[in-house]
Amino acid sequence: MNLSSAAAIIAATMKIIAYSKALYSSWLYYSADRILFDAGEGASSILGNKTFAIKRIFLSHGHADHIAGLFPLVNIRNNAMGDKEKELTVYYPKGNYLISELISFIGRTNRRLNYELEWIPLEPGDRVELLSGQMPRYVETFPTVHTHNEISLGYSIVEVRHRLRPELDGASQGEIIKLVKSKGKAAVSETYHQRLFTYGGDSVAIKPAYIAGTEILCHDTTFLDANDRKEYKHATLAEAIDTARIAGVKKELICFHISSRYKAKVREILKASGHYDGLDFKVTLVPPGRIFVID
Ligand SMILES: [Zn+2]
Ligand SMILES: [Zn+2]
Repeated sequence: MNLSSAAAIIAATMKIIAYSKALYSSWLYYSADRILFDAGEGASSILGNKTFAIKRIFLSHGHADHIAGLFPLVNIRNNAMGDKEKELTVYYPKGNYLISELISFIGRTNRRLNYELEWIPLEPGDRVELLSGQMPRYVETFPTVHTHNEISLGYSIVEVRHRLRPELDGASQGEIIKLVKSKGKAAVSETYHQRLFTYGGDSVAIKPAYIAGTEILCHDTTFLDANDRKEYKHATLAEAIDTARIAGVKKELICFHISSRYKAKVREILKASGHYDGLDFKVTLVPPGRIFVID
């Protein structure tokens, strides 16, 4: 696919634009919250004008295939046609050596940016507020296991929602209205936190408890065949599916970071992809080296 037809697709409708080719480049744009997860090489050239829509970037770890697109992206936001004054915040795992080096390089070579560029280190369990108000949203972090000498993080977008208290299940509308009138709204409704989307970055199987009940899970699926894995740094398709099943993923598992050795095989699997037997969610494989749009 060339860049202009990609731009046409992107402009039409979409929710997620993903690009992933293990070792080369990985990034995923979640348009609903204007978040770019990771920034592999080519992210800004493929996103084009959409680069200016990004409000926040969350980096999972410091490997080149996940951060090499950051330097051009910061420059594009300063020079291309678009709102050059829009601020940009980049979140990253605290203490990550490679990312810290990149931050100082970008800082030293971009002393006069038109916009505010902020870098915020995060630790497992941290929260970043996205929206306040009636239905607040935030990003929560969780630890992932990738390389032993590097800190890596995964991220979930969470929405705070309201629902009828379970003990009122089966109560009539009249009874509920009566309760609200006498005791207030809190007597009939409770809040709960719904994970909408989880991005795991590069990782072995994610601990299901960290991502329980998420609607959409984007999980490392570097290996379709476990026999091809020489070092324990990435996950297999079977592990990604298992993790999603145990975590109770509600809608979709996005298999990301697939090794390009499976290029031919992915085409076969894509044809068969969809609802696997016995799973409550859809399985989508992001073919290596292709711009992939999910809505
Ligand atoms: Zn990678
Ligand atoms: Zn990596």
